[in-house]
Amino acid sequence: MFQDRDETTEAVRSGVARLCMEFPGEYWRALDEKRAYPKAFVDALTEQGYLASLIPEVYGGAGLDLATACVILETIHRSGGNAGAAHAQMYTMGTLLRHGSEAQKQRYLPGIAEGSLRLQAFGVTEPSSGTDTTRIKTTAVREGDFYRINGQKIWTSRAEYSDLMILLARTTPRSDCAKPSDGMSVFIVDMRENLGKSITINKIDTMINHSTTAVFFDDLMVSADNLIGQEGKGFRYILGGMNAERILIASECIGDARFFVDRATTYAREREVFGRPIGQNQGIQFPLAQAHMQTEAAMLMVERAASLYDQGQVRGSEANMAKYLAAEASWFAADTAMQTFGGFAFAAEYDIERKFREARLYRTAPISTNLIFSHVATHDLGLPKSF
Ligand SMILES: Cc1cc2nc3c(=O)[nH]c(=O)nc-3n(C[C@H](O)[C@H](O)[C@H](O)COP(=O)(O)OP(=O)(O)OC[C@H]3O[C@@H](n4cnc5c(N)ncnc54)[C@H](O)[C@@H]3O)c2cc1C
Repeated sequence: MFQDRDETTEAVRSGVARLCMEFPGEYWRALDEKRAYPKAFVDALTEQGYLASLIPEVYGGAGLDLATACVILETIHRSGGNAGAAHAQMYTMGTLLRHGSEAQKQRYLPGIAEGSLRLQAFGVTEPSSGTDTTRIKTTAVREGDFYRINGQKIWTSRAEYSDLMILLARTTPRSDCAKPSDGMSVFIVDMRENLGKSITINKIDTMINHSTTAVFFDDLMVSADNLIGQEGKGFRYILGGMNAERILIASECIGDARFFVDRATTYAREREVFGRPIGQNQGIQFPLAQAHMQTEAAMLMVERAASLYDQGQVRGSEANMAKYLAAEASWFAADTAMQTFGGFAFAAEYDIERKFREARLYRTAPISTNLIFSHVATHDLGLPKSF
């Protein structure tokens, strides 16, 4: 993505590619088997400043744009790695940067930029509300200089490996609000002080190595200084950050799609059956060509969404379309790679089955395909809302 854009982008691309060479397939396979967190990889990314790429220089970050951040994530996924253990630091920080007070930014951003503070956890989804975020049940009730928080989040990824969490909670009951999206607020929560007391984190076993958890809040007292922006406006702040999240994750999908096409094409050239390379058969060639074309087309949409974001003009539609097209391209490429590798696709040592499992996530999270269709149908085509 953003090929030959400028020297900075190319330096970032080659720097990340070099870093990834130190974390080959064996590294990711061993972690996958144990469902262990890729700490050494995340530490290396942090030390080399890549996770602080979007933090402005004045707070100790690199002050790069979203397009460059997309190149970082695409490169990691194209190498066979997975940025899921660390990518949230890039976009959750945006909520604080755009809506936090100067005092909050001074307090947290330099630590995040230098790596002494980890902001990897993003608590929005709840078990009973799912995609219908306005029905979240976690409440934050003001008591003097504090908010008392009670409730439960689910699928809060990386919570065990994060010091801070960006948390969405209801501060006004839905029934008392003019609009269902009013009355929710965003907090930056320091989990370190409360773990095992008012915060409990339970691991969830999943089909991929994603360190995802359920988090329980039991009379958690959070200082009113940790409210981001204005009380009741949290949903809007979160939505703004979600555009960045979708575009960045779409870049990971482009990296995954390229990984699958690269690996499968090489295999199709080398594997001989019936006395000739399998890639000589059109039944193998054509899906690979199709996967390549779908990836290139999706990449253009991701580049467009990232460019609009950097110009301050992105809408939910471009971010959603980029994420949808890229997730579909990577899923088709994943299935094509599985078919190309035949039985060997199922052997862990080729990394195809691991990446296949990982690629499937992005048709569901951070927003599922149906919800993107619904957004585009109503916002771009003017059709009536179905819910
Ligand atoms: C591995 C993983 C990591 C995650 N990490 C995080 C995280 O860090 N933080 C966080 O807050 N969340 C996280 N999530 C949650 C993720 O964003 C949600 O799973 C996703 O948004 C879908 O919500 P749900 O699972 O509750 O599905 P549901 O809302 O229950 O939906 C189930 C299915 O029904 C469909 N559906 C629902 N309503 C409609 C409708 N009106 N019309 C058509 N179809 C509909 C959906 O598209 C979906 O296919 C993660 C999820 C996973 C699996």
